[in-house]
Amino acid sequence: MQIEPGLHSLGDKSGGYVRAYLIEDGADLILIDTLLGQKGTLVLDELKALGRHPSDLKKIILTHGHQSHLGGLAALKAATGARIYSHIWEADVISGKRKVQVPPTTTLFPQKPLEIYFLQVAFVLGLGVPPAADVDENLKDGDTIGPLTVMGAPGHTPGSLTFYWPEKKALIAGDIVVTWPGPALGWPQITLDNKQNRESVGKLTDMTHAEILCVGHGQAIVKGAADTMRDLVAGRETKPETL
Ligand SMILES: [Zn+2]
Ligand SMILES: [Zn+2]
Repeated sequence: MQIEPGLHSLGDKSGGYVRAYLIEDGADLILIDTLLGQKGTLVLDELKALGRHPSDLKKIILTHGHQSHLGGLAALKAATGARIYSHIWEADVISGKRKVQVPPTTTLFPQKPLEIYFLQVAFVLGLGVPPAADVDENLKDGDTIGPLTVMGAPGHTPGSLTFYWPEKKALIAGDIVVTWPGPALGWPQITLDNKQNRESVGKLTDMTHAEILCVGHGQAIVKGAADTMRDLVAGRETKPETL
């Protein structure tokens, strides 16, 4: 689904309405996150629908090393030959050399939102680990990649990265904010440091004044994203305009 010319949202109900984002950078394509499905089908179908060849996908960037975002990584790397980028803290999780870190307070006891209990269980028990792929290059706060500025957003995980596209006023944010099942500062039971995540969202709000927020789960916010982010940081109710 096109959010803006050159910025596309991909995903279905799986993985807790997980989303990936495809960016047209001239002739090249950049994919941010890879959805849950391990064959990369939704991404490859989107490339076809856009009249593109798999080899047009030059870069796959990962916001962080959580499984709903990594499912298609190995298959898409094989199908496209794209280079893979992540923060260094996430790289050994993505390559399968380190287990995903679960917050110490998270057990099998159900926590809100209950809609993601299946993900909480998978986290705690270490189920559904996706096929691993090696990261080719590390990214850090302040780097640029294509039209995007890399902005660190530690909290959800220590290596969570977001990507700002100034021309579109769009922030691709991973799991620091979600809109499913409702707008929230991520999902608390799989966020390693909720206080730090809140601080990161506050900082990014002031630094970007983003209009569009491409979230990790649920539909993207298409208008007034900074206002929504400000509401969430302040603990106010918010009703964002989404795709
Ligand atoms: Zn996550
Ligand atoms: Zn996620």
